[in-house]
Amino acid sequence: MIDTPRAKACRKYYEKNKVSLLIRNKEYREIPENKQAIKKQRNQKFKCECGGKFTQTHRLRHTKSNKHQNWVKSLSN
Ligand SMILES: [Zn+2]
Repeated sequence: MIDTPRAKACRKYYEKNKVSLLIRNKEYREIPENKQAIKKQRNQKFKCECGGKFTQTHRLRHTKSNKHQNWVKSLSN
């Protein structure tokens, strides 16, 4: 490996910023507002055409529910 002054400077920059970058990431995840924004997005409710509601995380579970399945059946009749 050729250790040019440029490569040396680049590595120095990375080493210097590595720690602060890691801290910044950790801080971001630990800020309550950010946690809430993630939670809020996860709990966002969607209206289904069957008349039901579901959240992003329970979308699949909803499509398997009786309410939704009955609606699907009523469409094919
Ligand atoms: Zn539905």
